[in-house]
Amino acid sequence: MAQIIRDSIVYKGKKYRINKQTYEAICSRWYAGEGEEKFASVTQLQQPLKVFALWKRHDKDVILKASDLIFILFGSAMHEVLRKGAENLDNILSEKRLAWDFEGYRITGGYDAFEIGLEDNILTDHKTTTISTWIYGDRIKDFQYQLNCYKLLAELNGYPPITKLMVDYFFRDWSKMEKLRRDERDKKYPPLGSFEEELKMMTNSEINQYIRDRIQEMIGGLSMEDDEIPPCEERWKNDIRCKHYCEVNKWCNYYKENYGK
Ligand code: SF4
Repeated sequence: MAQIIRDSIVYKGKKYRINKQTYEAICSRWYAGEGEEKFASVTQLQQPLKVFALWKRHDKDVILKASDLIFILFGSAMHEVLRKGAENLDNILSEKRLAWDFEGYRITGGYDAFEIGLEDNILTDHKTTTISTWIYGDRIKDFQYQLNCYKLLAELNGYPPITKLMVDYFFRDWSKMEKLRRDERDKKYPPLGSFEEELKMMTNSEINQYIRDRIQEMIGGLSMEDDEIPPCEERWKNDIRCKHYCEVNKWCNYYKENYGK
């Protein structure tokens, strides 16, 4: 399990540090799938091969900065509040972990809410995110695969057929003032600070194939040495992902060759 440190920074001559209570909250690891037996979770299946393999091999030696996990804490806090709210609703189950063995490889995942409706059975995932996620839509494909995987896991575990998949957005940087400004300039902006949108459903055979293909790719990656695994294709502009968002870069030969000391 990765270690989390209470980091600080000196900026323009002044030291800034994360509050102790905030740090403790981050360290209490809200992720419901922590420590479960698995080959991969649905979200790990979506990782680039090299990130997945390096994490799997070096998990215990990874050091995370608390300041990089603040927005995960936001998401966890939101999930906790929503879970409490759902306790008053008879037809909504919330925050359940699911698992299934695909040819011996255990895949796990947790949905946020499952609603048994009169017309539809709906699976929902709450996303605390930025407005740019919605404006540019660059995560939609990931959300779609994620929710479709949960749907398959749920149905394999005996849930009734799921007929709708929803992503429920909470924009942490939404502003009414900014919306009014963008409306004037006819620029796309989330109309509300929070709303839900329907995601495209895949057939169970399509999603089954997706999971099996990803497992095969990851088994292939795990059979290689760290340096033999090709660098990730999506490294973002000027390798910003490698330099600032990759927790396993110290084991990555691409990073070391290009940015290592
Ligand atoms: S440093 Fe870059 S190429 Fe290497 S694993 Fe991380 S994201 Fe992938």
